[in-house]
Amino acid sequence: MGSIAVDDATLSRPPFKVLVVGGSYGGLSAALNLQDICSGRAARCGPDAKKAALDGTSAAHDGPQFAVDITVVDERDGFYHLIGTPLAFADESYAEKCWVKYEDVPALQQSPNNIRILRGSVQSIDQERKIAKVLGSENGPGPIELKYDYLIAAAGLRRVFPVVPQSLLRKQFLFEAGDHIQAATANRHGVAVVGGGAVGIEMAAELKLVCPDLKVTLIHSRDKLLSAEPLPEEVKDRSLELVHEAGVEVLMSHRVDRTEEFVDNGHKAYKVYFTNGHTLIADSVIMAISRSVPSTTFLPRDVLNEEGYVKIQPSLHFPSESPNSDDHLAIGDLVKWSGIKRCGGAMHMGYLAANNIHMRMKQAVSGTEPTYLELDEIPPMIGLAVGKKAVAYWPTNGVSSGEDVNKLFFGDDLGFDICWNHLRLGGYDVVKA
Ligand SMILES: Cc1cc2nc3c(=O)[nH]c(=O)nc-3n(C[C@H](O)[C@H](O)[C@H](O)COP(=O)(O)OP(=O)(O)OC[C@H]3O[C@@H](n4cnc5c(N)ncnc54)[C@H](O)[C@@H]3O)c2cc1C
Repeated sequence: MGSIAVDDATLSRPPFKVLVVGGSYGGLSAALNLQDICSGRAARCGPDAKKAALDGTSAAHDGPQFAVDITVVDERDGFYHLIGTPLAFADESYAEKCWVKYEDVPALQQSPNNIRILRGSVQSIDQERKIAKVLGSENGPGPIELKYDYLIAAAGLRRVFPVVPQSLLRKQFLFEAGDHIQAATANRHGVAVVGGGAVGIEMAAELKLVCPDLKVTLIHSRDKLLSAEPLPEEVKDRSLELVHEAGVEVLMSHRVDRTEEFVDNGHKAYKVYFTNGHTLIADSVIMAISRSVPSTTFLPRDVLNEEGYVKIQPSLHFPSESPNSDDHLAIGDLVKWSGIKRCGGAMHMGYLAANNIHMRMKQAVSGTEPTYLELDEIPPMIGLAVGKKAVAYWPTNGVSSGEDVNKLFFGDDLGFDICWNHLRLGGYDVVKA
C-alpha cells in the first residue's frame, strides 16, 4: 500500500460539503466511492479495488485525503433494489429482502462521521449560491436549506405503480407488495400484464415462476416484444421464446382500448377490451407500460433538455454555460446519454463522479488543474430475467440465453446480492457469499 500525503493545508480546512440527491444505485455509489477516495482507499467500484479483491490484497488511492461531509437525501427510508420489483410484487419474502433501511446498511453505519442520510425531498437548488431546499426532512415540517460545495444529482426517474412501489417507508412497502400479490394471485381468471417491454416481461415471468398454477397473460400492442428498445431482432425473438417457455400466455399485436371493472360471483374482476374487438377477463390487470419521467423538477430548467434529462458533459458536469458547472454533477437514469438505462451504468457514473469531485477538491486546496474521468458512449445492451432463464445482449458477446445466463446476470435473487456486493454495502471488506 502506498503512503498517502496529507498536508497541513488539507488538515486545517473545514470538511468539503457534498450533497447527493438520491440514495439508490447511483447516489450510494457516488457517496461511498468518494468516501473511499477521500480516506485514502481505492474507490470500491474502480479497477484498483476490483483487482485487489481478486488478488486478496488491499489497495490505496494514490492521492491526497480530504475531510469530507457527505449528505445523501432520499425520499425513501432505505436502499430499495429497484431491479427486484417484478419479484417483490410476486413474492412477499423477497419483498422483505429487497428494501433495506439505511440504518441497517452496514457500509453507511461504518461511516457516521462523513456520510449522513437525510430523509426528505429536494425541492430546488440555487446553482449560483450552492444551496438546496429540502422538504419533509427530519428537522421539521418546513423546508430547510443545505449549503454545499459540490452537488450530485442522482434522483433517477419517476415511475408509476406497479413498475415501482410508491411507498416511501419500508413498512408501507411491505403492505403495498402484499396487497398487490393478493390481488394478482386470486387465480380465478388469472392476471393480465399489459406491456411487453422489459418490465412487463419480467413481471409476467416472475408471477408465473412464483405461482406456477396461475394463468398469466402478457399483452403487447406491437408484433415484437421490447419493440421500443434499440436491440437486435434476435434478442426480441429470444425473449418471446423464453416467455413462452416460462408458461406465460402471450397476446401480441393487441392494443388495449379500455378496461372495465365488474363483480364476478362477489369478487372484483376486469374485462379488457382490445381495439381489434377481442376481450379478456382477468382478476387483475397490471399496467407495465412505462411512463417514466426524469426526477429533475428541482433542477434549473436550463440544464435540462426538453424531456427533462440533465444535459451532462462527458465528465458528468452540468452544461458548462451554467453557473458553477464544475461543482454540479448528474449521474444515473436522469442524465441524457446513450445506452439503455441500467443500474450498472448508474453505479459506474457514481464512481466517475466521486473521482471528479476529488479532482475539484485537489484543485481547491493546491490549485492543480483537474483531469476529469469521462463517461464513454454506451452501446445498447441488456440482461433480462425471464423466470428461471434470462436473455442477454452485449455488443462483444452477442445474444445468449438460458438458466446459466440468469445465474450470471442475476444470481439467485434478481441481482440483489450482485448489487449489494458491488457497492460493498455490507462493508468495504465484506462480500456476501
Ligand atoms: C422494474 C425494473 C426492472 C429493472 N431491471 C433492470 C435490470 O435487470 N438491470 C439493470 O441494469 N437495470 C434494470 N432496471 C433499471 C435500473 O433500475 C435503473 O437504471 C437504476 O435504478 C438507476 O439508478 P439511479 O440511482 O439512477 O436511480 P433510481 O434507482 O431511480 O433512484 C433514484 C433515487 O432518488 C430518490 N429521489 C428521487 N427524487 C428525489 C428528490 N427530489 N429528493 C430526494 N430523493 C429523490 C428516489 O427515492 C430514489 O431512491 C430496471 C428498472 C425497473 C423499473
